[in-house]
Amino acid sequence: MRCLLFAFLLLGSFPSFALDRFQVEGYTLPNGLQLLLKPGTERGHVAIRLVVGVGLDDFSCADKELPHLLEHLLFSGIDATGEGGLEERMQALGGEWNAYTSNADTTFVIEAPAKNQRKVLDLLLALLTQTRIDDNAINAAKQVVEREDGGHYSHLQRWLDRQDLGHTASNQLAVELGLKCPERAEVDHLTREQLETVRKAWYAPNNMTLIMVGDLDRLLPAYLERAWGELDAVDPAEHSPLPEIKASAAHERTLSHGLVGGGAKLHWLVPEPVLEDLHDETFDLLKDYLDWALYRQMRLAHGLSYGPSAERELFGGVGFMSLNADLERDDLPEAQQVLEELKAGLLKDGLDADTFNRLKQAAISRQAWAVQGNSALADYYWSALGDYEDGRFADPARELQGVTLAEANKAMRELLLQPGYLRIEKPLMSDDQFIWAIVGLLGLFVLGLLAWRIHRKR
Ligand SMILES: [Zn+2]
Repeated sequence: MRCLLFAFLLLGSFPSFALDRFQVEGYTLPNGLQLLLKPGTERGHVAIRLVVGVGLDDFSCADKELPHLLEHLLFSGIDATGEGGLEERMQALGGEWNAYTSNADTTFVIEAPAKNQRKVLDLLLALLTQTRIDDNAINAAKQVVEREDGGHYSHLQRWLDRQDLGHTASNQLAVELGLKCPERAEVDHLTREQLETVRKAWYAPNNMTLIMVGDLDRLLPAYLERAWGELDAVDPAEHSPLPEIKASAAHERTLSHGLVGGGAKLHWLVPEPVLEDLHDETFDLLKDYLDWALYRQMRLAHGLSYGPSAERELFGGVGFMSLNADLERDDLPEAQQVLEELKAGLLKDGLDADTFNRLKQAAISRQAWAVQGNSALADYYWSALGDYEDGRFADPARELQGVTLAEANKAMRELLLQPGYLRIEKPLMSDDQFIWAIVGLLGLFVLGLLAWRIHRKR
C-alpha cells in the first residue's frame, strides 16, 4: 500500500521529475510483477512495453523457435472472433501493437492514446490470460514464423549452412566456436504441449516487467494493482547458462559468398577480454576510436574502402569486437597490410590522447539527444533494464566520463595482442576469371566442332 501511495504522489506532480530521464520510480506488485512508470513530456500518448523474461537463449538449438512461436500464437484471438476480432478491438481503441522475441526476452510493444490506456492494458491482459491455443492456430503461426525466417528451410539452404556458405563472417565464426547453432531452428516438430509448458513456466507476473511512459492516468497504480495483481506467480524457472567458447576456429578463412563479382569484405574479429576493473563503457569508446582510425587509414589515407567500420557483437556469453572493410577484390592484400600496420601502430604508440578525448566528449554529448520522446524512452528503459537500481537507471554520460585514457589503452592492448580471427568474404570467381572461364569454354567448344568436322571428312 505504501508503494501505491507513493505512486499516486509520483503521478500527481513534479514536472522536474519528468525531465530527469534516468530517474524512474518502480515498484513490484505482491505477485512479483515489476512496474516502471514514467510521466513523459508528450501529452495524449502512452508507450507501453511488457517485457517477459524468456528468449531464444533459453532453448536448445532444435527448440529455439518455441518462444517466438508462442509470441505469435498469443495474437490468435481471445474469443470466437479470432485474430481479426482481436485486432479490431485494438483498432477501436486507437492503439497499435506488436511483439518481438530476442535472445534474452519477449516484448510486447504498444503505442496508445492516453485516454484509452487502461482499456489497452485490459486487452493486453486478456491476450495473456484468455488466448486459447488450438491446432489450427498453431499451424497458422508456424507458417508465419517460417516465412519470417526466410521461407521454407530447403535442403539446399541447410546444405549451404553446413558448408558455411550461408552465414556472414561473424555468424560463421560464432558457429565454429560453438557459440551459435549451426542450422536455422525449425518449427514443424514443435508441439502444443511444449508451447503450453513454456507459457506456464515463463508467462508469469514474477517474470515480467511492465514499462509505461507518457501521459499517465492518475488512477493507473490502483488499476494495475487491482487488474494485473490478479495474475498468479509461479516458481521461477532457471535461465540456461549462455554458451561460452567450446571449440577452436581457424585463424584465417575465406568464405565464398555468391558466384561472380569484384567485391570482397575483410573482417578481423576478436573476443573482448573480460576486464573486471574497467568501466563497461570502455569498449564502447574503444570501438569509436577504432572506427575512426579505420576510416582515416582505409578510406582517407589509402582509398581502399568506402565504409570501413568497427563493430561490437554479442554471441552467447561472449562479446566480440570486429574491424571490417568493404573492398575491391584486388585490394585485399594491401588492405590486410594496412590493417596490420594500424594494429601494430596502436600497440606501439598507444591511443592518441587528443583523438580519444574528442571522441569521448562526442559520445557524452550524443547522450543529450540520443533518446527523444515517450516511445524512445520506453525502448531505452527496456534495453537498460539490467542497469536499473534504487529508482534510477545508470547515466551513460556519467559512465563515459569515468573512462580514462589509461583504461582505454589497457583494453586496447588486451584486445589487439590477441591473434583474433581473419575472415575474408568474396565471390567464388572475379569478373575477369569468369570471362576467361567463358572464353576457355567457347574455345573448347570450337576445337571440338573442328575435330568433329575433320573426323567426318575422313
Ligand atoms: Zn515473429
